[in-house]
Amino acid sequence: MMNSRLYGTTFAIALFALAAGACATEAPSTSAPEAGFENALQARLQLQPNLNKAKNVILFIGDGMGLSTVTAARIFTGQSAGQQGEEHVLPFEYFPNVALVKTYNTNQQVSDSAGTATAMHSGIKTRAGVIAIGPEVERQDCKASLAKQLPSLADLAEERGLATGLVSTARVTHATPATLYAHSPERNWENDSQLPPQAVADGCRDIARQLVDYTVGDGIDVILGGGRREFVGTALGGKRKQASADLIKDWLKQSPQRHFVTNNEELQALPAHGQVIGLFADSHMSYILERNEDSGEPSLPDMTRKAIELLSQNDEGFFLMVEGGRIDHGHHQGQAGLALREAQDFAQAVQTALASTNTSETLIVVTADHSHVFTIAGYPTRGNPILGLVVSNDDAGNAMTEPAKARDGLPYTTLGYHNGPGAMLKREGTPTHGPQAVQLAAIPTWAETHAGEDVPLYANGPRAHMFGGVIDQELIFHLIKHAYGWN
Ligand SMILES: [Zn+2]
Repeated sequence: MMNSRLYGTTFAIALFALAAGACATEAPSTSAPEAGFENALQARLQLQPNLNKAKNVILFIGDGMGLSTVTAARIFTGQSAGQQGEEHVLPFEYFPNVALVKTYNTNQQVSDSAGTATAMHSGIKTRAGVIAIGPEVERQDCKASLAKQLPSLADLAEERGLATGLVSTARVTHATPATLYAHSPERNWENDSQLPPQAVADGCRDIARQLVDYTVGDGIDVILGGGRREFVGTALGGKRKQASADLIKDWLKQSPQRHFVTNNEELQALPAHGQVIGLFADSHMSYILERNEDSGEPSLPDMTRKAIELLSQNDEGFFLMVEGGRIDHGHHQGQAGLALREAQDFAQAVQTALASTNTSETLIVVTADHSHVFTIAGYPTRGNPILGLVVSNDDAGNAMTEPAKARDGLPYTTLGYHNGPGAMLKREGTPTHGPQAVQLAAIPTWAETHAGEDVPLYANGPRAHMFGGVIDQELIFHLIKHAYGWN
């Protein structure tokens, strides 16, 4: 009883601190109340909207981080810290304002990341597969796309003299970050060897080229993630047509204040002033669970902390987008452990942002672009290992000692997918489980797919109270504009 009252107090203090616009404190690592509801109730009753204008906005996008992923990541994180897990609270779950977001594309019931990122960054719902191009244009139609380019939050921020940044564990030319600085009727045109000759003739440029040539304001100030191969030619181990091409050199030449880094040590040693491109992997950065300790790759919290430090030098404020890009990829492989470990780091990056900013002037929005066909199933007992086999309760409600059996007499994992590679696993003996296992799935597809239900959004800081209800994804852009007072 003492413990749960103590946890309740800690929870309420954290909620008060966030809601009242005070400097964010370290979110408690202890669990939330189960019996001590009084403090949580008082915190809700005393919520006041933060009516300040946002000086800074940080938009966190967990790629594919649907609601089931958030719940499983919460349990996974709690269990990693030795708790039962279900009672754990992720840093953004202390935020007082939550909305549900409709994610469909104009031409797809279940969306892709290019269309959804365009909606969030440019305020217009559009087709799947296009980067900051209006919905009238067919995918891959270069000529038509040139007349329908949509300005992004990065463009608007740069035009107003703010600092801008993008951080991702995926390639920086991948769909979500690309919608901030590029316009392309095809998300896969990341380097010039992927551009069809007709698109070149019609005047389209590849996405990496557009990042290097981006000239709104003084350009994107902080660019951190993977994807070095998109910027250099084959002689340098890259994918560009011209063997000796080096777009990074082209970017560095444009100003003496620009820096290029390739590992965490160089990143952390950067001077406080200037602009930076950090590319830490040829393609996507490696999964945390598969990361070689010598790779020198920074974590998402490392990148987030440094990005905020650099962007905060601008007195006008900043816009920063942080993507947990590989949650999505772990799910596509049907490997929930990979996805949940990425989601755990993503949540830690939110905590880093809270600790590095002041909630009276910085709006933090945490959401996903779309969900996955990922589910938490069976009737596992309280505290059952989230990556393990279902162990149920007996008739008295106490945990059994053996895994539960399906109708075929075989045990099954708590986590599973509606489709994906897991459907090809033979239902013989004990299914594999643990951090890098492929979870069971119903329908055999090459890759597990996105899902069409709404995703959650969590907001804290100036004007965060505007985020609520069931909203269309493009409204996120317009609400951020209002929070900055750009109207
Ligand atoms: Zn995906």
